[in-house]
Amino acid sequence: MSLYASYAAEDTQSLIKLGANENPFGPSPLALAAMQRALLGCNYYQEPENLALEAALAAHFGLAPQQLIVTSSMSDLLLILCRALLGPGLNAVGGDLSFFLYPLLVKSVGAELRCAPMPNYTYDLDAIAAAINADTRVVLLSNPNNPTGTMFDAAALDRFLDKVPERVIIALDEAYYDFATEFARRRGITYSHGFAPIADHPNLIVMRTFSKAHGLAAIRCGFGAAHPDLIARIKKFRTPFSVSGVAQAGALASLQDLAHIQKAVRNNADEAPRVAGALAQMGFAPVPTSSNFLFLEVGRPAAEVDAALFAEGISVRPMAAWGATTAIRVTIGTPEQNDAFLAAFRKVI
Ligand SMILES: *Cc1c(COP(=O)(O)O)cnc(C)c1O
Repeated sequence: MSLYASYAAEDTQSLIKLGANENPFGPSPLALAAMQRALLGCNYYQEPENLALEAALAAHFGLAPQQLIVTSSMSDLLLILCRALLGPGLNAVGGDLSFFLYPLLVKSVGAELRCAPMPNYTYDLDAIAAAINADTRVVLLSNPNNPTGTMFDAAALDRFLDKVPERVIIALDEAYYDFATEFARRRGITYSHGFAPIADHPNLIVMRTFSKAHGLAAIRCGFGAAHPDLIARIKKFRTPFSVSGVAQAGALASLQDLAHIQKAVRNNADEAPRVAGALAQMGFAPVPTSSNFLFLEVGRPAAEVDAALFAEGISVRPMAAWGATTAIRVTIGTPEQNDAFLAAFRKVI
């Protein structure tokens, strides 16, 4: 309820949106200016294949353009993968407390999502590997995982990649890459080898989005990197012109403003432990996060807590759709937003 009410933003300027893991500092001013310029020409079709953005991403990450696909969001890329690789009688493998879109997209092409249990809110990569059968074509992994915020490290991914047969595509969802990288730096661990493993693993696609750290959720732009053969195979399923000219321009400019991302990333790494600590003092135990949100068991119907927080001007995400009827997920906001959440939560609980 509160989530959809929170989309009506104009009349709820005072609503504090902590329900969808967005960047609380807004888009980069560079991206905003580029998108405004792009709007002036929106009577003309844009370049249909995102070539400028593809080239910029290739230069930025040290990849060849043939290793990249740009799509209108990572959700769109996930659907393209499902359409290219799955169908009736086939399956994908994932975890049982992961991104809500995975089962919807897999079922939309007539395939099945086989879910391995996630003990302690974390992927068990051995259980994921064991769930693969002759009809499996894709493994869907969110790292860090949404909605629990937990991660596996680069060495664990390496071991998993060596175990999975090459005919199975591993779709690695790194929507929260920037946040996890900063936590790992502070903790002295290696979260991800980034795009490097695609060189040795033609069955790996690593996916990112402009929706989270870049602060561009509503423009809809994402991308993936993989072996050129896999990229060529899935590009056939992308609709020409599907990434709008405004989105291309905004994403391109946002890539130039890494300071803007760093601001969000540093705020998050400072604030997540502070919010988690305050919740612990109230007697709650949020799952340790490597992302920009906390998964929290509230010990009572989450829908009630959600509605009460909404009445206080805060939107969070109740986890009923995931089968966790007594848990909420709350995004880490600015220090002021987090204080407002903590005060409201203390009152409501
Ligand atoms: C937000 C999110 C995405 C999708 O983002 P788009 O806005 O569709 O690009 C993908 N995976 C996970 C785990 C997410 O949380």
